[in-house]
Amino acid sequence: MYPARPAPFDYHRAASLDEALSLLADLDDAKALAGGHSLLPLMKVRLASPAALVDIGRIPGLAQISANGELTIGALATHADVAGSEVAVGICPVIPETARQIGDRLVRNRGTIGGSVAHADPAADYPTVLKALGATIVVTGRDGERGISADEFFVDVFTTALQPGELVTSVRIPATGPGRGAAYVKHRHPASSYAVVGVAASVAVESGDIADARLVVGGATGTPVTVTGIADPVAAEERVRDALTEPLGDVYASGEYRAHLAGVLAKRALTTAVERAAG
Ligand code: FAD
Repeated sequence: MYPARPAPFDYHRAASLDEALSLLADLDDAKALAGGHSLLPLMKVRLASPAALVDIGRIPGLAQISANGELTIGALATHADVAGSEVAVGICPVIPETARQIGDRLVRNRGTIGGSVAHADPAADYPTVLKALGATIVVTGRDGERGISADEFFVDVFTTALQPGELVTSVRIPATGPGRGAAYVKHRHPASSYAVVGVAASVAVESGDIADARLVVGGATGTPVTVTGIADPVAAEERVRDALTEPLGDVYASGEYRAHLAGVLAKRALTTAVERAAG
């Protein structure tokens, strides 16, 4: 029987990034707390029982969204911040489009992009889209800052390239330039909105033909799977289905169903991305 409340823990609220990094380095078994919408449910059922939480949620300057040739989103930007960002719509519209599809209003008001990528849930939306767009995850530790490509950042189920004591501080996403288009299509779980399967497509179109296409499938495997070199949406359906050799299955959707769904969504995502690139 679950106690439905967390094991005892110490709580520290960091007032600055430096203070958060020091606390995470000095405290035993400490975890960062951002929006709390993934960590606290795990703590309540004691799948996570950190000895200490370092609340980073009020650190100034980490929630900014800016454009300077590329889109930069601070780790503490909530899904609602991103969904409503005119700056993001102007430079990379598929990112706010994705944020609008996350959870419900409560989740979007509390959950953060930094928490989502650090948590690396197989059914989360951002990892799939960030991989398709060739984004960079910027992480900061006591030794300074480093950028990790989304391809290298997401390693496995709930596993990333973050080192102990490091924090995600921002995400950098290339602008969707002329002749390029992107789309994210997901089949949402009816209870949570998590992706049963979600497919992101990013394409370049030249003279009406696909010159470059990158499709990424989330929700069907431990970490999103990338498929490249696709010439048309019909080919996409088969290539994506075939790429999922060991799709995840659960009580809601079997592996076979997920693979089929991934093919169908890949076709839709690629078709939409091509229309956007042409338009
Ligand atoms: P927290 O819960 O605070 O932290 C999560 C983990 O990341 C912890 O291990 C924490 O230590 C670590 N962490 C947090 N911030 C950082 C940082 N800056 N650097 C390093 N580590 C950090 N997600 C989707 O993608 N799609 C959905 O449809 C969806 N539906 C949801 C429905 C419900 C009912 C709930 C409760 C959640 C849902 N989520 C969904 C997850 C939601 O987006 C979470 O908010 C998000 O995954 C985690 O962000 P957070 O800020 O809440 O992180």
